[in-house]
Amino acid sequence: MSKLLLPTSTAGSLPKPVWLAEPEKLWSPWKLSGDALIEAKQDALLVSLQEQLSAGIDIVSDGEQTRQHFVTTFIEHLDGVDFNQRETVRIRNRYDASVPTVVGAVSRPKSVFVDDAKFLRQHTDKPIKWALPGPMTMIDTLYDAHYKSREKLAWEFAKILNEEAKELEAAGVDIIQFDEPAFNVFFDEVNDWGVATLERAIEGLKCETAVHICYGYGIEANNNWKKTLGNEWRQYEESFPKLQASNIDIISLECQNSHVPMDLIELIRGKKVMVGAIDVATNAIETPDAVADTLRKALQFVDADKLYPCTNCGMAPLSRAVARGKLEALAAGAAIVRAELS
Ligand SMILES: [Zn+2]
Repeated sequence: MSKLLLPTSTAGSLPKPVWLAEPEKLWSPWKLSGDALIEAKQDALLVSLQEQLSAGIDIVSDGEQTRQHFVTTFIEHLDGVDFNQRETVRIRNRYDASVPTVVGAVSRPKSVFVDDAKFLRQHTDKPIKWALPGPMTMIDTLYDAHYKSREKLAWEFAKILNEEAKELEAAGVDIIQFDEPAFNVFFDEVNDWGVATLERAIEGLKCETAVHICYGYGIEANNNWKKTLGNEWRQYEESFPKLQASNIDIISLECQNSHVPMDLIELIRGKKVMVGAIDVATNAIETPDAVADTLRKALQFVDADKLYPCTNCGMAPLSRAVARGKLEALAAGAAIVRAELS
């Protein structure tokens, strides 16, 4: 059986239908509750799946339709975190936010996304990628009044993530991805324990594993931060050597329209690379040729059988029409380069 070259996927989130939550907004409140909400989330998941399939995306996801936020929703399902006790902390050294407090030992009383993953598995034969927050990004979204150590809390979360990941694998997920935007900020911690806790989270998994490191959604706080980063964004230089030596199979990174020098990908030579060829911080829809151009440049540093065309980040804050256009452009751009390679 021949393996498809350049399989396309998204970094994770896709826009929600307007009947489920207010569109083009993060942390958008649900419009329904109770059983109606459960059913509506499943319906939205199927719509999101269908949009990926129609666009020609090869590795599909749930579009994160059942979660309000990529970090918070997972943490809401854990014991030891009090969402009523809130403190203001600085998230990723970038913006202040009112966050829940860790008040005791953290644990996962039951699985968080496993039913959703089973539901998605029932409805497609395509490979499935499932996103979870990474340990470092989780601790950075909380106030810790219990462990009083970022590292200790990260190891606890890694253990919990590993339990969830093993159940997702058993539910038929093919690739489990950990979102670690914090890896682009806390370089000393990445090298001291960040990558190590990530490896703890994937311990014993037989499915493929990925880490997604990006410069975030196209929201104002991120856009302002990006203005301070200068012409060349070399943040990946700090984490890539350690990741290259790690057990993680796939690195997901952003390239399209970003100031990341493409040659940094050389630092993870040997790994599979999900190359962001779609900019999520603009409503302008890439042309297939622009996508193809980015992929061709990436091919200088990634072997063709290890290149996975992807989006820079999640597309939750975009309109559905824009997101759909971008998915189609991604698939069409990948098809151009695939034809050149065969
Ligand atoms: Zn991202």
